[in-house]
Amino acid sequence: MSINDKCPCGSNLKYKKCCKTYHDGRVAQNALLLMRSRYSAYALAKHKYIIQTTHKTTRDDNIKSIEDFSKQTTFQNLKIIEFIDGEKEAYVTFKASLICEGKDNSFIEKSRFLKEEKSWYYIDGEISV
Ligand SMILES: [Zn+2]
Repeated sequence: MSINDKCPCGSNLKYKKCCKTYHDGRVAQNALLLMRSRYSAYALAKHKYIIQTTHKTTRDDNIKSIEDFSKQTTFQNLKIIEFIDGEKEAYVTFKASLICEGKDNSFIEKSRFLKEEKSWYYIDGEISV
């Protein structure tokens, strides 16, 4: 993928004007932006970004499992269903459309995010199919 291609997060912006800015170190101002940039990071196998933006209490430092998931999966589409913002805690419900080894692996997740210092972190989520 080129940086001039559309961003995987579905914003209709070029990747270089969208999630790349977060992958390059910009702080996501809210949990929704963080969630979108994490989806793009999965799509582009940017495993370091996934780990950095996961809360320390639930962080999985197993880079291999993130890499394998990214490589085996085609990230087709992201749809935001609901965003509940808050001071220190926020929720994003989304549908991720994924194809994994020829099978539809799409799921809906309500993700929970916590803010510490000035940054948001993914902490956990509830998945429904
Ligand atoms: Zn994006």
